[in-house]
Amino acid sequence: MKFWDEKIETMPLKDLKELQLARLKKVVKMAYEKNAIYREKFKKAGIKPDDIKSLDDLSKIPFLTKEELRNYYPFGLLCVEMDDVVEIHASSGTTGKPVVGTYTKHDLEIWADVMARSLWANGLRKSDILQNAYGYGLFTGAHGFEKGAQKIGATVIPISSGNTKRQINIMKDFGTTAIAATPSYALYMAEVAKEMGYEPSKDFKLHLGLFGAEAWSDEMRKKIEETWGIVAHEHYGLTEIIGPGVVSECEEKKLHINADHFLAEIIDPKTGERLEPGEEGELVFTTLTKEAFPAIRFRTRDIASYSEEPCECGRTLPIQSRIKGRSDDMMKVKGVIVFPRQIEEAIMHVDGVSGNYQLVKTKKHEMTTLHVRVEPTEERYKEGNLDELAKRIEDEIYAILNLHLPVEIVKPGTLPRSEGKAKRVVEE
Ligand SMILES: [Zn+2]
Repeated sequence: MKFWDEKIETMPLKDLKELQLARLKKVVKMAYEKNAIYREKFKKAGIKPDDIKSLDDLSKIPFLTKEELRNYYPFGLLCVEMDDVVEIHASSGTTGKPVVGTYTKHDLEIWADVMARSLWANGLRKSDILQNAYGYGLFTGAHGFEKGAQKIGATVIPISSGNTKRQINIMKDFGTTAIAATPSYALYMAEVAKEMGYEPSKDFKLHLGLFGAEAWSDEMRKKIEETWGIVAHEHYGLTEIIGPGVVSECEEKKLHINADHFLAEIIDPKTGERLEPGEEGELVFTTLTKEAFPAIRFRTRDIASYSEEPCECGRTLPIQSRIKGRSDDMMKVKGVIVFPRQIEEAIMHVDGVSGNYQLVKTKKHEMTTLHVRVEPTEERYKEGNLDELAKRIEDEIYAILNLHLPVEIVKPGTLPRSEGKAKRVVEE
């Protein structure tokens, strides 16, 4: 069985759009009738549920922003009785009040199903043993992976993040075949495995890595695949939408949007105008089937493009590009727009670097300057001639960004390691 849900995953685009429209009408009507805040928003914009007659009519509905979600904390946008809520998640809230995700039984079934679809597309099967090294808790990550993997029938080890030596021992003793974690933590785990005397690509049964929660480059993906001897897949999701499970990455490494549940648009972040397929802009999602907390036209602040081109894998579900970065992460350095992921890509092009780097931002009179700290591998560090390495990285960054950024080579093991989301940009 190649597909988890063949009917949906290979549905002709025309049929998919009909399904989306029917579901969109339903969710708009529900939000209007069940939630006073949504009703007020729609009234202000001069629209009633009946005005939604085509998918294009979606653009009449005002956006939902992160600020609004914070204002309506915790349950302002709830569209069901609290009695019907069976699970609550929340974002970390490091930049203000957390965003709260509420789920009915039906919502949890959808979540498990889209995660199973996604993991199946990655190659996870009943015979797999998944070490779930995302942090358990209010964060949606770990729970989404657990629900989906168990729906497939795979074995889940709910180890959570941290305690890295124990992770390696468990991986060895339990015969872990798949790992779910942030990409940066996966690299750190490989370092610890080496310190413990293992060769990560040979001494474990691992064949699959399921990574997300960070904007990482394809070069970082290659590094992780080589280091662990695995196939690494991207996961993308948001608490506001459902958690992980918004997309399924196929064997061609294309991110198919689970568009029967999540309707994507790409907009110009400045004007809010909808952009054409292939154009890069801000991703906006509408949940089509969620009951407890439907998000209608939620602005993600994530920069990507959208395509309806057919894929070699046979899936017809539309494709979103990998996330270039959050619009919040965007920096302007000497007039050039820079995303941390682009610098990562440049660094990883150079032989002899490890996956550990840091972007150091300095602000002086409204001017942002940036310099880059990179850890080489132990072997490359011992070779010396580190100025030459720094120069090669500077050239690669220049080739990608047309920008000269000073590169500082630091001793292996000196930059901070992360067990969750890596903090790549620091201000000094
Ligand atoms: Zn595909």
